[in-house]
Amino acid sequence: MERSFFDDHVPTRFAAKCAYLQMTMGSHRLGQGLINICRHVVRDGSECVGPFLDDTETTCGLWEPRPDAAKTAAREQAR
Ligand code: SF4
Repeated sequence: MERSFFDDHVPTRFAAKCAYLQMTMGSHRLGQGLINICRHVVRDGSECVGPFLDDTETTCGLWEPRPDAAKTAAREQAR
């Protein structure tokens, strides 16, 4: 059986690409902007540990890739 590009691909562990991340708007009255909430069963409702910086991977052991992460990685490789 022929192997594809995706068989060996290990996704980069960016917090912004986590399957459990939910971005939502905080309270305007409290001066909150965008809030990154974790929906993993272990951390449900807590803020994501991040970081949300370019080229910096998360150290979160619960991280899993979003279903569309492989497509995004393929687009980045094609550049
Ligand atoms: S805390 Fe971990 S599991 Fe939760 S959204 Fe952030 S990276 Fe994902």
